[in-house]
Amino acid sequence: MQLTVINPATGQEIIKLDEDNDQSLSEKFTNLKIGQSNWQTIPLQQRVDILMRFHLLLENHQAELADLLTSEVGKPLQQSINEINGARGRIAWLCKHATTYLADEYMVEEANMGEKIVYEPLGIICNISAWNYPYLVGINVIIPALLAGNAVLYKPSEFASLTGLQIRKLLLEAGVPKNVFEIAIGKGPVGAALLDMELDGYYFTGSYQTGQFIYQKLAHKMVPCQLELGGKDPLYITDDIADIKNTAIGTADGAFYNNGQSCCSVERIYVHELVYDKYVAAFVEEVTSWKIGSAMDEGVYIAALTRPAQIEILENQVQDALTKGAQLLCGGKRIARPGNYFEPTVLCQVTNDMLVMQEESFGPIIGIMKVCHDEEAISLMNDTVYGLTASVYSRSQKRAEAILAKVNAGTGYWNCCDRVSPALPWSGRKHSGFGATLSHAGLRAFTKPKAYHLKGDWKKTAV
Ligand code: NAD
Repeated sequence: MQLTVINPATGQEIIKLDEDNDQSLSEKFTNLKIGQSNWQTIPLQQRVDILMRFHLLLENHQAELADLLTSEVGKPLQQSINEINGARGRIAWLCKHATTYLADEYMVEEANMGEKIVYEPLGIICNISAWNYPYLVGINVIIPALLAGNAVLYKPSEFASLTGLQIRKLLLEAGVPKNVFEIAIGKGPVGAALLDMELDGYYFTGSYQTGQFIYQKLAHKMVPCQLELGGKDPLYITDDIADIKNTAIGTADGAFYNNGQSCCSVERIYVHELVYDKYVAAFVEEVTSWKIGSAMDEGVYIAALTRPAQIEILENQVQDALTKGAQLLCGGKRIARPGNYFEPTVLCQVTNDMLVMQEESFGPIIGIMKVCHDEEAISLMNDTVYGLTASVYSRSQKRAEAILAKVNAGTGYWNCCDRVSPALPWSGRKHSGFGATLSHAGLRAFTKPKAYHLKGDWKKTAV
């Protein structure tokens, strides 16, 4: 079988790739088994050095990597460059802290009794990934998994296969041995085939629907499984914000950056009635000022969506909202040109039962709703099956934290949104998944802790 890679900006074919099949996957698995047993014996500091060389290669090849990324996922070139730089920041953090968080941990150091935790690698881990930030979400798994001494079987999204192949090429160039990192090319059925293999852990980034399928399919295996899934991330503007215009500009970016195709994009906005009119006017002014066009052109902010099928979902959300009484302030339809373009769309007078306020949009569309007080905002923010991030804009940190404490989401933002830090755990709740990447938790997510009880004349040793 062959996978056709399409440029979403033109609808034209870029290349055809051979898909993996049962036989090629089985060969890769055999090789990874051999590779992993050697890789885990390499001292941690050496693994760190190799992955820091990968960090350097991303810098050296930034321009060509960004071109390739834009050609297959359609994001504006500057955003591709930003993504590669963001990935480098995460690699640097993970490498810097690996020696602390993956080292043996001594919990009890008494004369006649020592107790320590050793963080052993899982073995061969599988990473099935998404296309919207292939460097960022890929690196969240690949780097800590390799640092911990695992081998990785990586399945990039079928919409980001060329970037996946580049990641492999540069990892090998950096010094990762050949049989330690392998790639599986293909669509959903290739991902499904990986679930039948005897891998030691499964780390998935993608939609709730696929995540749920994977979780059910893996249940009998009793191996670690982490799911980083979708979101319907709410943002609340309180009545005491200092600067309405700049708040509107910043939050519009949080909703529309990468064409809204981020798991932590702002997907719903609630605004206190006292600032609602001014905020909405400034928001629409910002959205209608953006340049729409080819991702390669300077200054373009809204380019093509990656997947053609998403356009129909957005059209359906607009239709549903208008039928239920919403008002369209701008956008609302596909742009008539080759490729997957949709106008940046703002809807007001929305209610929480509308699809645009419930279903992950993953596109350039937002619903803005007026609220009377904080309790109403909290209740609406929690009215979702998802629980990835939530954001509050207010002059008062105390007020914002009190609100965020009542919202069931893995991340809370005060006066910011749509951001990820390598120092903090990235984790969802409810249909947004479970487990954590990044931070000390994400470094240890690819290990199995072994407890040692050392009685007698014990000493500190590396196992
Ligand atoms: P998707 O679920 O369609 O696909 C994800 C991956 O799963 C792809 O590699 C795909 O080929 C594979 N796959 C599809 N069917 C499969 C099956 N039956 N068995 C095994 N693998 C299968 O998701 P997507 O469109 O690639 O990504 C978008 C989604 O990812 C959004 O919901 C977004 O919010 C979410 N996402 C979440 C995070 C996070 O950190 N929480 C980050 C990025 C994206």
